[in-house]
Amino acid sequence: MTPIALAIHGGCGVMAKLGLSEEEWQAARADLAASLRAGWAVLVKGGSALDAVEAAVVVMEDSPHFNAGYGAALNENAEHELDASMMDGSNLDAGGVCAATRIRNPVKAARAVMEKSSAVLLTGAAADCFAERNGLDIVAPDYFTTERRQKALAAMKAHAKAGTFAAASESEKHGTVGAVALDGSGHLAAATSTGGYNNKPVGRVGDSPIVGAGTYARDGVCAVSGTGQGEYFIRLVVGHEIASRVAYLGETLEAAANRVIREDLKSYGIGAGAVAVDAKGNVTAPYNTDGMFRGWVTSDGRLHVASHGEVFFVETLEDGAQ
Ligand code: ASP
Repeated sequence: MTPIALAIHGGCGVMAKLGLSEEEWQAARADLAASLRAGWAVLVKGGSALDAVEAAVVVMEDSPHFNAGYGAALNENAEHELDASMMDGSNLDAGGVCAATRIRNPVKAARAVMEKSSAVLLTGAAADCFAERNGLDIVAPDYFTTERRQKALAAMKAHAKAGTFAAASESEKHGTVGAVALDGSGHLAAATSTGGYNNKPVGRVGDSPIVGAGTYARDGVCAVSGTGQGEYFIRLVVGHEIASRVAYLGETLEAAANRVIREDLKSYGIGAGAVAVDAKGNVTAPYNTDGMFRGWVTSDGRLHVASHGEVFFVETLEDGAQ
């Protein structure tokens, strides 16, 4: 029996528990569960890890609860510049877009770059045009804007003026979505999509579209998608670092991910989190903030979601026995 597994995150920039009403928490958790169901439906039919992570990320990009696609963060000019990437662990193929402004689902554009372009990463207007030429949905930039992100931008500008950036909440600062999967053929894949952080400089590119930093997948080792201040994920090459600890030090996935997220990144004083799955279908979702939107389906089909410490069992889906 080949195990299959899926894990997702909706960013470690989670509000304090009292920051949202119980209905809003439930709505966010419902969208996490919908994302997992979409990815799992692919895997359970024998579909590929790539298709599964794409399906899972699209649901979160279309949800207003997470900082990617609809509901993405705004830069210092109150504009959206969206980053995304995808990696295929079977052959180390990868694709990404950064500073895209009109692509409804940047993760689909990342996939198109991976499969249809000789480039690994396309930027800005070129990424938008490439997506359009390849038949992806194009939207007006204000499609992505929500009231919550406008308020977060105003709060970050006020912090910047008052010199109180450190006091800003994780949810005011950032967020991201991502998915990792192991399919029935033993292949691993990862995908990540983000609006970056609120009030980011125009043209700033984070870790999410950078292979090895915010996204990494290698068959036989693991697949990783990260969330947290991207500059540090790039400098510590987080996705590749976790995979290297597993591959070369023989650490368990959990030990490797915990070490990088809870010790290495924590030591810089930045909020960070990740989801990862290994070649046996073990999943892990460490974070060093108060909470991280996250969820997973293990090979027995059990679906869990969480935002803070409490983990909710939602349901048992068709299992992965094949
Ligand atoms: N990693 C994202 C970035 O730096 C932000 C986040 O996940 O919070 O663009």
